[in-house]
Amino acid sequence: MGQLETADVVVIGGGVIGLTIARALALRGVRNVVLVERANLGAEASFAAAGMLAPQAEADYADGFFDLCCQSRDMYPTFAAALREETGIDSELDQTGTLYVALTEQDQREIDHRYDWQVRAGLSIQKLGPIDAQALESCISQNLSGALKFPNDIQIENRRLLNALVAANEKLGVRLMTGTTVGSIRSDRGRIEGAETSRGFISTGTVVVSGGAWSSFIKVLDSPIPRIEPVRGQMVCFGSSQSRPCIARHVIYSRRGYLVPRLDGRVLAGSTTEQAGFNKVVTASGVHSILSNALEISQRISDLPLVGVWAGLRPRAQDSWPVLGPSGEIQGLVFATGHYRNGILLAPITGKLIVDAIVDNVVLPDPAFGPDRFANVRVNR
Ligand SMILES: Cc1cc2nc3c(=O)[nH]c(=O)nc-3n(C[C@H](O)[C@H](O)[C@H](O)COP(=O)(O)OP(=O)(O)OC[C@H]3O[C@@H](n4cnc5c(N)ncnc54)[C@H](O)[C@@H]3O)c2cc1C
Repeated sequence: MGQLETADVVVIGGGVIGLTIARALALRGVRNVVLVERANLGAEASFAAAGMLAPQAEADYADGFFDLCCQSRDMYPTFAAALREETGIDSELDQTGTLYVALTEQDQREIDHRYDWQVRAGLSIQKLGPIDAQALESCISQNLSGALKFPNDIQIENRRLLNALVAANEKLGVRLMTGTTVGSIRSDRGRIEGAETSRGFISTGTVVVSGGAWSSFIKVLDSPIPRIEPVRGQMVCFGSSQSRPCIARHVIYSRRGYLVPRLDGRVLAGSTTEQAGFNKVVTASGVHSILSNALEISQRISDLPLVGVWAGLRPRAQDSWPVLGPSGEIQGLVFATGHYRNGILLAPITGKLIVDAIVDNVVLPDPAFGPDRFANVRVNR
């Protein structure tokens, strides 16, 4: 196949990560950005997600990953406001906060520990007894022994966010090529030459690999790339009932599941964590476990109409940390993948770090996220 065109940067993958990077490149003045998407924009893991931006709720200690997540969460008000300004689309960033409930003795021990370390670390967190927690959210089960409130752990309507990102890219003149697959990335003597797509070759000096769970299928000639594996997550969605518009305002977490109330009255319940290859089906056992964990949090969902189920594939690297930044082996090859359970949360910081690396040659703050950490355990399919 012949040459299709040339680009300053080719971004592979139109999920939240690729779209955020493409927009950030265009905003930073990179003129000719081409984003190549195999199927439809924002239709995979980023569409399936719950949109929680909640690093504190699940963390038992602080490390580089926790810091990265908190930094990205704190970028969200500005990120969402800028997207709204650029596109007129409101991504429904909901800053009500997150409650983490204890429904068993083991849960209570866990939240006590979480409270202690986060208070010592100076993080924003509140401990609530059952009466105070139920005063905040009356739908929570009577079996509640206590709860933590994380005022800064928030949520966004990820599907609206994706619409806003697509519109922002269109306005900025990013070329969005859908229905086009990148099969391989070509390099010569340690430098990127371009991307071989199903519609022809795109000549470029810089390629960003942000293909989510499918990233390892992209062949990089002369260099293996980190192994990224799919981890299936199923979701159940309830509609609002006529008499009670929404059962809760906060995101409500337990150790086993979560409820995410949307501003339009829907409630999402999640999720599963399954090794099922690239099979995105919804299963009876997946829905069963989500429903029983959701009912444990609140019996009130039993009255709600069930309006949807779906599944998505989270992209996971071997150590479950994201793979971010330039390859040390091939100049112009940049990775932004492996965001696993936190790709919506990590989108703003990923956009910033990747664009800083491409445009200003800024070295990533923490080499623990770099692609070269897998030097001995990478694949080239
Ligand atoms: C049920 C569930 C709940 C979740 N909840 C949350 C949450 O609450 N908060 C949170 O932060 N994260 C959450 N996540 C995780 C989050 O969804 C992912 O980390 C994130 O969406 C990954 O974004 P991505 O852009 O890397 O991948 P994707 O959204 O999967 O996008 C990758 C894109 O690349 C395209 N592509 C792949 N290979 C090629 C190729 N060779 N050529 C062209 N295109 C290609 C694909 O078609 C796809 O569109 C959840 C995930 C699931 C499944």
